[in-house]
Amino acid sequence: MSTAATLQELVQLSRELGREDRHLAILGEGNTSSDLGDGSFLVKASGTSLSTMSADGLSRVSHAKVDALLDRSDLSEQDIEDGLVACLADPTHKKPSVETFLHSLCLREPGVKWVGHTHTVSVLSILASKLGSKPFLRHVCPDAIVVCGRHVLLIPYINPGLDLAIAIRDGLARFRAEHGKPPKVILMENHGPVALGSSSAEVLNIMLMLDKWARVLLGSFAAGGPNFLSEEDAAKIDQRLDEAYRRKMIEAKA
Ligand SMILES: [Zn+2]
Repeated sequence: MSTAATLQELVQLSRELGREDRHLAILGEGNTSSDLGDGSFLVKASGTSLSTMSADGLSRVSHAKVDALLDRSDLSEQDIEDGLVACLADPTHKKPSVETFLHSLCLREPGVKWVGHTHTVSVLSILASKLGSKPFLRHVCPDAIVVCGRHVLLIPYINPGLDLAIAIRDGLARFRAEHGKPPKVILMENHGPVALGSSSAEVLNIMLMLDKWARVLLGSFAAGGPNFLSEEDAAKIDQRLDEAYRRKMIEAKA
């Protein structure tokens, strides 16, 4: 896909995630990104809004420059602010979002090309509760396993910026060692979800299904508490997906 086409698609994804009726993000909340495949990626600029995104609200950033910052541990708030500008692959672009580091790490997971992050009201209602991310450790509906993955990556609250990115980097490595593939969903307590997809449509689908999952959980708490699927049933759905995926891969090679 050309850079211009990716740019347009990222504008579209941003507006979909920012739609007021969906309650995923308001004002400057949330951000989106897409990998360009040349060591750089497009990410929402600081101070822009998802719902009114346009091409000039996206900045092109270099993965290598992000890595150089992540390798330093002695950075002040001002260093990070300056570092965000220094990460630009195109110096004429606006300062990228403070969550740029997180996007860069997610986009380099295998198979991930598009990333969306929101502050979804339903999901946050649970992540900001006394239960934190725990209700998402098990599933209540099969469709959420299909779209969001059987396991999600859970991250405790850390202020947005470099420290959060380092926790995400460690979390992604841990998740891949344990499950052999990257997560489709990261849940950051008291903050919000991240969706990792191979396409912009997948990112939107994950966010919409996650919102539904959270609303079902909230409803179930009002009706006596969730009746979680057994680990056995959840594993069967997950295995069926893996089999279908392998079959598709074999067919593609044949
Ligand atoms: Zn955020």
